[in-house]
Amino acid sequence: MLKVENIDVFYGNIQALHNVTIEVNEGEIVTLIGANGAGKSTLLKTLSGLLKPKKGKIEFLGKSISGKAAQTIVKSGISHVPEGRRVFSNLTVEENLELGAFLRKDKAGISSDLNKVYETFPRLLERKKQLSGTLSGGEQQMLAIGRAIMAKPKLVLLDEPSMGLAPLMVQTIFKVIEEINNDGATVLLVEQNAHMALSVANRGYVIETGKVVLSGPSAELQSSEEVKLAYLGG
Ligand code: ATP
Repeated sequence: MLKVENIDVFYGNIQALHNVTIEVNEGEIVTLIGANGAGKSTLLKTLSGLLKPKKGKIEFLGKSISGKAAQTIVKSGISHVPEGRRVFSNLTVEENLELGAFLRKDKAGISSDLNKVYETFPRLLERKKQLSGTLSGGEQQMLAIGRAIMAKPKLVLLDEPSMGLAPLMVQTIFKVIEEINNDGATVLLVEQNAHMALSVANRGYVIETGKVVLSGPSAELQSSEEVKLAYLGG
């Protein structure tokens, strides 16, 4: 479904990704794990068109999307939930959710997905008229994920959805990731919480200083000594 081949990405003169190759198949949950600054967010931003690769190819559903505008990439079915949530603070919860669906025309589908989001996150229903900027961190994270669901994407890019959340909320978020996947979306998940990420993902890639250093089925990565030492607390 998504093929990334040998991409290099720079911030000015600084190279953040070196010859990165990854693949995501339809229906999978794939995780990218790595330390702070490894380049995980950079890779997601490149996939959603916020950064352009200097070299290499990106194909989504058989078509090249490398260097395409972010709007074009959203239209092709990729939805990005960035790190730090980025909800529209001056809009209400419901307005944010409606914005998620702005490219859709199927009114009935939109309204049924809105109900689904409220069922998944009852807290958002209680607060649908509240300005999003006044939500707690965890609530904003739910909203950011809800907004992505509203776009009905084929592929969701999730950047550190569990960051800064209380343990119970982390569990909820991971459950929702599995639900989104069961509902038909393919998921590419960036996480610092490698333990949780590998427990929901089919496969993973380990990124270090802008390079893919290891990849494989989650079970294989979970039992790798290297991964255990560096990312699973020994
Ligand atoms: P984290 O988990 O800390 O968010 P990450 O793996 O997502 O880390 P990136 O945010 O992709 O890492 O950063 C990769 C490298 O690129 C880092 O060295 C970072 O300092 C650098 N970088 C990121 N954004 C910029 C920018 N706008 N300008 C210059 N360098 C940047």
